[in-house]
Amino acid sequence: MITVKALQLGFGEGSQYQQVLHDVGFSVGEGEAFGLVGESGSGKSTVLRCLAGLYSHWHGEMTIGGRALGHKLTRERCRLMQMVFQDPYGSLHPRHTVDAALMEPLVIHRMDRQHERVSQMLVKVGLNESFRHRYPHQLSGGQRQRVAIARALILEPRILLLDEPTSALDVSVQAEILNLLAELRARDGLTYILVTHDLGVVVHLCDRLAVMQQGRIVDTLASSALGNGGVTNPYTRTLVDAT
Ligand code: ATP
Ligand code: MG
Repeated sequence: MITVKALQLGFGEGSQYQQVLHDVGFSVGEGEAFGLVGESGSGKSTVLRCLAGLYSHWHGEMTIGGRALGHKLTRERCRLMQMVFQDPYGSLHPRHTVDAALMEPLVIHRMDRQHERVSQMLVKVGLNESFRHRYPHQLSGGQRQRVAIARALILEPRILLLDEPTSALDVSVQAEILNLLAELRARDGLTYILVTHDLGVVVHLCDRLAVMQQGRIVDTLASSALGNGGVTNPYTRTLVDAT
């Protein structure tokens, strides 16, 4: 179980200071896929980045399995939770081959059977050995996102934080990646927190969702409510009507 309570974060100093998150709170059950939706600039990516340990100046409380998350990115946190970005170059170095990208976390965390783990992970994300020695620019957008997902999963985390993982891809490739994410979750019981603009993605992948507006959560509902007129919050209604 992940809980986020009264999460607050701002950027800038003095007159430039901007409060970006105001008392954000939600909880996500183990094995659940939870969507975060809302207009551009509402703070969705910032929430994920706080959870991932990429920002340290937040206030509030975040817990996983009852244990409080601190302000530092620890090894333990990396093992537990990984993030996938909209642009796979967020996690792939352009001058590192697929093999190097997948090996690096294994070496840092001194994992055993490194070569074998990479082979297994390539198969898991629908690639094969022939991709090992390719550089990111030698892959299609969808293949690159598969490698980014493989890198996120190589340490066998329980939680994936997904920030618009399909929005930079062609529509047909989007479906492939969504199906892959659904398969991986069904097989390994992963917990997802997924940020997206696309309510179709939420319906496809998420059990529940929270709606953000100007740094606040204004609604939380089951994603099944989106399709059957079960949306009562007027702001959520505007998002549903806009899609
Ligand atoms: P989008 O859907 O466009 O990705 P978002 O909901 O993910 O938007 P965030 O990226 O979380 O929005 O940004 C929320 C607000 O915080 C924006 O006003 C943004 O300009 C601001 N912000 C985000 N990161 C920083 C930063 N590192 N420094 C200053 N301001 C930031
Ligand atoms: Mg964002």
